[in-house]
Amino acid sequence: MGLRLAGIPASPGIVEGPVHLLRWEVPEVPHRIVGDDQVEKELARLHAAFERARDRLQLIRARAERQAGPEEAAIFDVQISILQDVSLVEHVDALVRQNLGAEKAFDLAMLEWRTQFARHPHAMLRERVGDLVDVHIRVLSILLGLGDHDPIDVPKGAGAILVTHDLTPSLTVQLDREAIAAIATDAGTTTSHIAILARSLGLPAVVGLRDAASQLRGGERAVLDGGAGTLTVAPNEREVAEFRTRARLEEQELAELRQLAELEAVTLDGVRMVLRANVDLPEEAELAATSGAEGVGLMRTEFLVVGRATMPDEEEQYRAYARVVEAFGGRPVVIRTYDVGGDKLPVGGFPAEPNPFLGWRAIRMCLDQPELFRAQLRALLRAALHGDVRVMLPLIVSLDEVREARALLAQAADELRARGVPFREALPLGMMVETPAAALAADTFRGAVDFFSIGTNDLVQYTLAVDRGNVQLAPRFTPLHPAVLRLIAHVVRTAEEQGIDVAVCGEMASQPVMAFALLGLGLRQLSVGPRSVLAVKRIVRGIRATDAERAARAALAASTAGEAETILNRGLDAALGRS
Ligand code: PEP
Ligand code: MG
Repeated sequence: MGLRLAGIPASPGIVEGPVHLLRWEVPEVPHRIVGDDQVEKELARLHAAFERARDRLQLIRARAERQAGPEEAAIFDVQISILQDVSLVEHVDALVRQNLGAEKAFDLAMLEWRTQFARHPHAMLRERVGDLVDVHIRVLSILLGLGDHDPIDVPKGAGAILVTHDLTPSLTVQLDREAIAAIATDAGTTTSHIAILARSLGLPAVVGLRDAASQLRGGERAVLDGGAGTLTVAPNEREVAEFRTRARLEEQELAELRQLAELEAVTLDGVRMVLRANVDLPEEAELAATSGAEGVGLMRTEFLVVGRATMPDEEEQYRAYARVVEAFGGRPVVIRTYDVGGDKLPVGGFPAEPNPFLGWRAIRMCLDQPELFRAQLRALLRAALHGDVRVMLPLIVSLDEVREARALLAQAADELRARGVPFREALPLGMMVETPAAALAADTFRGAVDFFSIGTNDLVQYTLAVDRGNVQLAPRFTPLHPAVLRLIAHVVRTAEEQGIDVAVCGEMASQPVMAFALLGLGLRQLSVGPRSVLAVKRIVRGIRATDAERAARAALAASTAGEAETILNRGLDAALGRS
């Protein structure tokens, strides 16, 4: 039997391939003293390592430019310039001349630099620390001969399973999609952004493996099962045969689901649901448009920013939004303004915060940087000429934020008018309900917003005080907790009273039992990952709304998430005639 590591299912699909181990951490460096006669040799080794690191960065830069565009590629310029910095090179040379081994000399110099930059009064320079760390790791790895841990080393078509501790934004940009077939990480949970991104890219993934990276050597054969959340290393023949059978069954199921694409999502007793897709990357638009979704319920724009050193300008954003809008013809496309912060960070461009999920993020950051925000709003107003664009604000806690954002939207329109650039007037403006504050005070937004979309990923996180990305807390992240169910029910009721649209766009909606619960709670619009649309549609078409309502009422009265889950599972089985 192979070594079976169990994690959290993050993105479905079964992949058999070699493990590519990516250890992206500063390695331990031995303290080595060299004799006077060795100094020149050490210097030559050091400079050769610098050159090799520069060559690699150039290659990565070129690939990032090809795959992601010139803006993403620019982050590597900073790292290349660090390697060319004369004062750094001279300092390391001097340490080697004092008889330190090349790797120790470089390690010491980088530690000094990192400390200096981290304390620098200028935020811009403090933000360079991430780049310094990347350069530190890269050069030391070359000097210490630690191969097999740079994403660029994976040969194209290798179909490798990337195993790593965590995928930071700078590593994500470097991912070679032609070489990596699946991802396994020690960190992360279903709602952490690496999981969401993997689903968007259609890459099977398992997260929350805790210590896989330290247990594997790299190069071993393995099977990753994204649906089951397992990574099996060195599987035996029987196991491989089992996985292949499962993969065939998954294919068949997909083929069956595809037949539902053109059918309506309507329950047996005639209740119509609107199912839309969550889109995270513009490249995903065309696929999402054929997923059976009736538009986009959430486009996360921050993935235009994650992994980059600078924010995209109006023009670049306009092109990205227009692409998604056009893919969906005249169907609604809800585009959310930047939800940057928390675990969705651009490279370097953000101050470190002790509590990023409670910090300067999303609408807070946008309102504090009106120039940047207005550029996004202008791009949205222009993209709306191509279809039905609706603007959504993230992380709202108070009506003031909506009012301020609305004023900036009007200002953005004035700017376009003054420039003579065509755009669509009066876009619908809605908000995420993803904080307990917004949910409890939903009535205070009367007349100020055109729609609500409940973001259960954050609503659960903030209601239960459970970090959504913390693998240790994953079992405590329970969307069926009575507090969460009651908040959702309250928002639905309030929206009905106010006559405004309400949807759910969190990951919760994509699981059958949760979709059943949400339907029962009165939701008529859900937005899920493109690959889940048809599975949810199948549930909707297989049940009666009255059964879902009865089960939801009982779940609302439950005392714990566990009780609610049992009630809903039984209710769903009965509704589907499975019991
Ligand atoms: C949410 O919080 O539920 C949501 C949909 O937004 P995100 O996952 O991008 O935070
Ligand atoms: Mg959110």
